[in-house]
Amino acid sequence: MTSIYHTPARALISDADTAADTAVDNAPWDADGDALHEECGIFGVIGARSAASMAALGLHALQHRGQEAVGITSFDGTEFFSYRGIGHVAHVFNNQDIFADLPGMMASGHVRYSTTGGSGLRNIQPLFADLADGGFSIAHNGNISNAMTLKRNLVQKGSIFQSTSDTEVIIHLVATSRYPTLLDRFVDALRLVEGAYSLICMTQHGMIACRDPLGIRPLVMGRIGDAVVFASETVALDVVGADFEREVEPGELVQVDHNGVISSHRPFGRQPARPCIFEQVYFSRPDSIMGGQSVYQARRQIGVELAKEAPTAADIVVPVPDSGVPAAIGYAVQSGIPFELGIIRSHYVGRTFIQPSDGKRHADVKRKHNANRALVEGKRIVLIDDSIVRGTTSMKIVQMMRDAGAAEVHMRIASPPTENSCFYGVDTPERDKLLAARMDLAAMADYIQADSLAFVSIDGLYRAVGEKGRKAKCPQFCDACFTGEYPTRLTDYCAEHPTELLGEI
Ligand code: AMP
Repeated sequence: MTSIYHTPARALISDADTAADTAVDNAPWDADGDALHEECGIFGVIGARSAASMAALGLHALQHRGQEAVGITSFDGTEFFSYRGIGHVAHVFNNQDIFADLPGMMASGHVRYSTTGGSGLRNIQPLFADLADGGFSIAHNGNISNAMTLKRNLVQKGSIFQSTSDTEVIIHLVATSRYPTLLDRFVDALRLVEGAYSLICMTQHGMIACRDPLGIRPLVMGRIGDAVVFASETVALDVVGADFEREVEPGELVQVDHNGVISSHRPFGRQPARPCIFEQVYFSRPDSIMGGQSVYQARRQIGVELAKEAPTAADIVVPVPDSGVPAAIGYAVQSGIPFELGIIRSHYVGRTFIQPSDGKRHADVKRKHNANRALVEGKRIVLIDDSIVRGTTSMKIVQMMRDAGAAEVHMRIASPPTENSCFYGVDTPERDKLLAARMDLAAMADYIQADSLAFVSIDGLYRAVGEKGRKAKCPQFCDACFTGEYPTRLTDYCAEHPTELLGEI
């Protein structure tokens, strides 16, 4: 399902969108009081011929960050154009003619993942609005932890929301701000926003890229010829042929005009950064560089730490593909136990986690992974995965190894126990669905039916990503999913759960 809207229609979403939306979006944001949790990838380019097709290529490289929907908005010097649809980038942008409808030398795009409900076309980004001083488009990676509170206030004052996405709050805050320039209004809006945001915005004057003051979600900047590129991860720069220039810094707002003039603003002052450590553990592509470090090498090193902390006697080290592969290599190297592909993954099934219902997720684990019986039979196996969330994957894979004749199955996890929900844009279920929040280590091992189970320690994880330890100089990352220490206020959550104590600072 795809649709085009042109700004002459001067609407945030076209009628076609709304009709399609009703069919697929049956759980509105406010109806169940549940904000959307999104994992996303964003890409923007200014100053390039065929900007929109470059954006499609960049988004294709970011597909792992969101597989549910994709959108691209372009600007040709006069008008904004947009094309968006449900599905993968290659599915939605499936023919060259589409790019004829996305003219101009500036374009930005978004790949999106959402959990329950909210998967309608109207939520597909970039969101667009026609503000007092012209068009404004926004692509957001992250999650605004006070979006419901802000939205309630805005609605009371007369704002009419078109989508159920937390991102739209920013548009309304910009629209209602009283500051004189668009940039000032944008900053004014962001001052009210809590949580995680990496944003790529477009106005008729150019592109604005920014990161929240703690830099929770990633955003990098590159160049190709005279064009400036922004992307969630460096892999997208590689794929479009752009050179990495630098990260957009936490709390920084980078403005690029149509002449390629770049200005950097720091409206929020400086504070210690807290980038998400789960990007290193699972979320980013291993061929990306994050915080100056190779994600692949960080993951491999987590495996090394894991082997030091939780050795076991075994015949082979088997990764749960693909997410467990780099850590399994590190574990194998450190332990001296041979690395073998004891599980083969079908590449024609999406990430198991992305299915909203538990039943479907169970079925998908089987479709996705199969035991390599010839290798596994009769062997003592160390099974390596990046994380346990609900425990569904681990339980199924351990069983799969046993069904294939494994003599022993020792599970090793390349992250600490995920005990807490993320409110910053990585989709995790509510706390009571997280295995590690419900059970101690022995009970978890029993639940997944492993002969032994161990997780890397939080200090081991910090060492692997190049730090001395978690407390060496404050926590250097947002590690709330493991530690429960949230680096921002969680206004919406606390309003809904007034009696619950969270370790926010
Ligand atoms: P579970 O079956 O619920 O324990 O999920 C664990 C599996 O999901 C692991 O193999 C991870 O690779 C993957 N995973 C962990 N966190 C996420 C996430 N936020 N989004 C998608 N997949 C994830």
